[in-house]
Amino acid sequence: MGIEVDLQRTTEVVEKALIAMDNRQKLFSKGVFRPEKTFIEMVKGYGERIIRPAFASNALFLTTAFVFGDDTERLFERIANTRYLFEYSWIFDPKEAMNKSDEEIMAGCTEFFRPAGYNRRVVSEWPYNLKLLERKFGGDIRNFFNKHDRNMEKIVQALVVRPRAKTMEKKKNGTFTRYGPKIATLVVQWMNQYGLYKFNNSNGGGVPVDFQVTRVLIQTGAVKLDRPENAHQITTLVGRTLGLISSEHGWQLRRISESLWNIGSQGCNQKRHADCPLQKECDRLISRKPYDKDGLFDPKDTGRWE
Ligand code: SF4
Repeated sequence: MGIEVDLQRTTEVVEKALIAMDNRQKLFSKGVFRPEKTFIEMVKGYGERIIRPAFASNALFLTTAFVFGDDTERLFERIANTRYLFEYSWIFDPKEAMNKSDEEIMAGCTEFFRPAGYNRRVVSEWPYNLKLLERKFGGDIRNFFNKHDRNMEKIVQALVVRPRAKTMEKKKNGTFTRYGPKIATLVVQWMNQYGLYKFNNSNGGGVPVDFQVTRVLIQTGAVKLDRPENAHQITTLVGRTLGLISSEHGWQLRRISESLWNIGSQGCNQKRHADCPLQKECDRLISRKPYDKDGLFDPKDTGRWE
C-alpha cells in the first residue's frame, strides 16, 4: 500500500478538530494551548523596553530553529524566564555578536537554551546565522523578509532552498542554516500570528507538519500506512493535503495545524483519550520512538486501548 493520504477522511478529521477548538470542547475547554506564547510575549516586552524594534523578531526567528529537535512544550518552559533573558539577551543581538568569538556565542547559547541531543546542531550554527543576519541584513531579520517581497511562500522557499538541502549548500547560497520546511513555515506562522511582521499574504507559506500533527492523522485513518514509512515523505504529503483542504474550505493553515497539534500534544501525549474530540475517530496510539530514532512513522498501536 505504501503511504496513502485520504483527502476525504483528512477533511473530516480536520473539521472535527476545528469545531472542537472553536467551541472549546473537550480538551480545548481551557482554550488553545500555545507553548511559545509566554516566551514570545517576553521577548516583545523586552524589545520595547530596550527600544530595539528588531529584537523580538530576531529572537523568535533564531529560537524557532530549536523547535526541530526538541519537545516544544519543554523547550519554551525552559527559556521563558525573564532573568535568563536579561542575562543572555546578547545572544539574540547580531551587533554584539560581532565582538565575540564563535566559542563565546555558542557557550552563551548553550547556557540559555540548555539543549540536548539533536539541538546541539542549532547551537553550532548560531554564530553563523547571527553574523549573516548582521552582515547581510543589517542585523534585522525583517530586512530578509522585505527582500523576499514580504511574501510567505518566497520567504519559506528562500530558507528551505530545497527539501533536505545540506548545511554547506545553504551556506553557499548565502542563506540561514537549520531552517527546513517545518521550521521555515513555523517562523512565518508565528511572526504573523504574534504581530512581529506584516506579510503580504497571511495564509501562505504552507503548514508546519510535525510528529503531533501527523500522528493524529495516522491514528484516525486519514493517513494510511501498513508498515513503518519515511517521516519526511509522509509529512510532505500531509502538508500538501492540508494545503488543498485549506484552500478548498477557506480554513486557515495556522488553525488547522494548531488544532491537530493541540490534540496530539495535550491529548495523545497525555493519554487523555476520554477528553479527546477525536476519540470516536481514532483507533490507536502510535509511538514517537521510531520518529526520533530512525525518522519513521510506525503505524502500530502501542496501547490506545490499555
Ligand atoms: S490517541 Fe487518544 S488523544 Fe490521541 S487522537 Fe486518539 S483518542 Fe485522541
